[in-house]
Amino acid sequence: MNQKVTIFNNLTRSKLPFVPIKEGEVLFYSCGPTTYDFLHVGNARAFVVGDLINRIFKALDYKVTFARNFTDVDDKIINRANELKIDPLKHSAVYIAECEKDMDSLGMLQPDHAPKVSETMPEIIRMIEVLMEKNFAYEVDGEVFFHVPMFKDYGKLSKKKLSELEHGKRVEVDKRKKHSSDFVLWKPAKPGEPSWDSPWSKGRPGWHIECSAMIKKILGDTIDIHHGGVDLMFPHHENEIAQSEAANGRTFVNYWCHHEFLNFGSEKMSKSLGNVVTIRQFIEKFSGEVLRQLLSIVHYRTVMVWSDDAITRAINDVERIHKFMINFEKAKKENLKDDSTSEMTGKFKGIIPKMKKNLASDFNVPGAMALFFSMIRQINREFLDEQGKYEGKNKLGKEMVDVVEEVISFTKLSTGLIHDNPELILNKINEAKKNFSVVEVLFSNEEIEKLVTQRTDARNSKNWALADEIRDKLGSAGITIKDNPDGTVGWSYK
Ligand SMILES: [Zn+2]
Repeated sequence: MNQKVTIFNNLTRSKLPFVPIKEGEVLFYSCGPTTYDFLHVGNARAFVVGDLINRIFKALDYKVTFARNFTDVDDKIINRANELKIDPLKHSAVYIAECEKDMDSLGMLQPDHAPKVSETMPEIIRMIEVLMEKNFAYEVDGEVFFHVPMFKDYGKLSKKKLSELEHGKRVEVDKRKKHSSDFVLWKPAKPGEPSWDSPWSKGRPGWHIECSAMIKKILGDTIDIHHGGVDLMFPHHENEIAQSEAANGRTFVNYWCHHEFLNFGSEKMSKSLGNVVTIRQFIEKFSGEVLRQLLSIVHYRTVMVWSDDAITRAINDVERIHKFMINFEKAKKENLKDDSTSEMTGKFKGIIPKMKKNLASDFNVPGAMALFFSMIRQINREFLDEQGKYEGKNKLGKEMVDVVEEVISFTKLSTGLIHDNPELILNKINEAKKNFSVVEVLFSNEEIEKLVTQRTDARNSKNWALADEIRDKLGSAGITIKDNPDGTVGWSYK
């Protein structure tokens, strides 16, 4: 039996139980990148969220068919290739290969399908022909437009009304269009541009039609889940719906998932980070593991702020995980006894079901990771010693080791974290830290525990001012204190 999943469906703006088209299976599409240069860190959130959705369904025992496209025919690619005086498709192929290297460094699973526009031309042209036959599209001078007022459901995803859209248009509208919201399906190529034969002109497709045609070709008329950034919701996804539902006469997508913005806005960046622009640069400096952690630890529907603090927190998290991995391996050899079953083993047995419950609730990766971190904290306290001296430490029992290893494998499978060699990661982080001043002003785990205790003492002696001061100090380092109903106090990263 697959775990029941709930998803925030942007079509209805509500969290709904996920009912797949075919029991136990997921047809999943995610809009991919336009490849004309190295990708910016801003693109990485889309990849990581798409990969997480794919992984989570797999970890919950669903059979997933995942497609993510490459836009290899586009104005940006053509312009860049013209500047460099090379063939646009060759130029794009170079950056598709670079993008795939970045995805490997980020610990991504290969999608089942990675279609390219240049390889989907017959299907794109066929879909435009159908739209012409059904009067949803018209041709002017070799250019084909989708006629938006013909599609009655237009705006159902973005909740925009056609009348308001027309009213709001400020830019000069192409006089050849019948309606200001009509959009391009096919356009004639200029001399020297890549072009394909079509019934209308030697040309190339508009942007939106590629996803509709690829989805139909690979996954079918109706799919379970379509994902992309919230910035793609309008007009891109709205136009995808219009094209597909007009052409196929069927519902296009059952669940729409959009991840929120990655905000580079007002946050001041440290000098060392100001230069880090591309995914490749970030990976070279801090590792793919840190970038993945940074992007996973914020829920996909929360706006993420790209800041020194956020990066520092991710570095500390990755350090914590990988030190644990090394010490756990060491302790297994030196601090193992065969038979023991501790109370904790029983408790840890409950972790995977709890992680699954979080992941199944609108892909709550931060919730699942908090459980993993709490396990690390408890094992560090009771069983591990960084110096390798185990006097005074509890002994790891065989059963305990098995349970913890299961949790580690499940975390790897479902989150894609811990995909690189711990020693390599820690070396890289140590190097990066030398040039990264912000790390020094934040707290180690021991310091946090100490401050939390000081705050509890202050509260017990009714020194509220001091208690608040400590809480604020931890708060500014991204740490939240939680006063539990049973009187105990916990903490976590925000
Ligand atoms: Zn798309």
